[in-house]
Amino acid sequence: MLQLRPSCESCNNNLAADSTAYICTFECTFCEDCAVKVHNYLCPNCRGNLERRPISPKEFLDQYPASTKRVVK
Ligand SMILES: [Zn+2]
Ligand SMILES: [Zn+2]
Repeated sequence: MLQLRPSCESCNNNLAADSTAYICTFECTFCEDCAVKVHNYLCPNCRGNLERRPISPKEFLDQYPASTKRVVK
């Protein structure tokens, strides 16, 4: 079960659960700008590669609400 984090760990911008975001295997979460332009698809925390976060269907989000816990490094 993915944690859908609500913000970019790099710039702290809000990330809606259905917006474009990038995650690594440890679920470090970044906005598209940071993932692509700043980090070049590499997670700055763990050095894993960043992939597009899948977007959950609406029914799924109702059942498992997106995380509201902000993670900032
Ligand atoms: Zn960002
Ligand atoms: Zn990471």
